[in-house]
Amino acid sequence: MHLKRRITKLGIYQAGKPIEEVQKEYGLTKVIKLASNENPYGCSPRAISAGNKMLQQLALYPDSNATALKGKLASHHNVKEEQLLLGNGSDEIIQLLCRSILDETCNSVMADITFPQYRHNSMIEGAEIRQVPLMDGYHDLDSMARAVDENTKVVWICNPNNPTGTYINEKSLRLFLEQIPSTCLVVIDEAYAEYVAALDFPNSMSLVHEYNNVLLLRTFSKAYGLASCRVGYAVGNENLIASLNIVRAPFNVGKLSQAVAAAALDDQAFIQETHIKNRTEMEKYYQFCTANKLAYYPSQTNFLLFEVKQSGELLFEKLLKEGVIVRPGEKLGFPNFIRVTIGKEDDNAVVLEKLNKYINS
Ligand SMILES: *Cc1c(COP(=O)(O)O)cnc(C)c1O
Repeated sequence: MHLKRRITKLGIYQAGKPIEEVQKEYGLTKVIKLASNENPYGCSPRAISAGNKMLQQLALYPDSNATALKGKLASHHNVKEEQLLLGNGSDEIIQLLCRSILDETCNSVMADITFPQYRHNSMIEGAEIRQVPLMDGYHDLDSMARAVDENTKVVWICNPNNPTGTYINEKSLRLFLEQIPSTCLVVIDEAYAEYVAALDFPNSMSLVHEYNNVLLLRTFSKAYGLASCRVGYAVGNENLIASLNIVRAPFNVGKLSQAVAAAALDDQAFIQETHIKNRTEMEKYYQFCTANKLAYYPSQTNFLLFEVKQSGELLFEKLLKEGVIVRPGEKLGFPNFIRVTIGKEDDNAVVLEKLNKYINS
């Protein structure tokens, strides 16, 4: 049996360690997992009760068109239902986009370093990968625009960027879009949109109205606290969405997930609360970095990438033994840094105390 050659050169996604595994391995009762940017406050109680009710209907196939959820999303974002595509997480939409658009004859442009799934899925389709280094942790949009040519089919913009947490403002994004040919799709991945506090963050829904070649990605996995449900969505041009629907598997989003996501969307107070608590707790990490003279990337997300002045990998191991899971920067391309998801007040206090100990020893 022979796989496509290029697949054999790729590796399996390295997910953060599951809590249960760490508990067993180190004999711990409590583990604080701040490695995968999950919402530490869980999800809306309304989502849970909607899910509970739906458990009676597990024998049924889901609505292939996710009509109810789409209807809610359409009014929430003031777009047409025909402009929405739902995915098994936005990960699946990235895969769908690559499968539908890319092949060996074209190239795909993205930042280096950004969310790894853009590169991974572009490579599987055989496209040439053009990675443009970040500038001080920010997308270098001028260089990215210059990397685009007549064979570029997709440009990936992660805003705010994972793993740096940095963002692109409206003015810069508009200047960039003006330089991109209409034949090239610009995917703007806003997985952390609900966490953004910056006032000059792009109003991307209006960009979708203005530019036919802009496609937005959003997800229920981060601020909505539904990572397990696997629901993401794209907002874009109706014709493109219709074409992507041809490629999509008919029942890609489960019935339970559709119901839970729809109920979660109705509870915007939960999102507001999550947003506020996250910003309050983020400040504590900023203060910690400033007090210890550690460089960090100002974040518009629920995670912070900061310097630890020692191997992030070794610090990760030490913290792991004490029941705290973070992401070592080495795994993300930032040696001597760690990426920490902003947790709950009590957990952050524990983590910051441990960090203090290791940074100053
Ligand atoms: C977490 C994340 C995603 C994937 O989210 P799912 O909807 O869970 O697949 C996509 N993009 C970025 C930048 C992310 O951080």
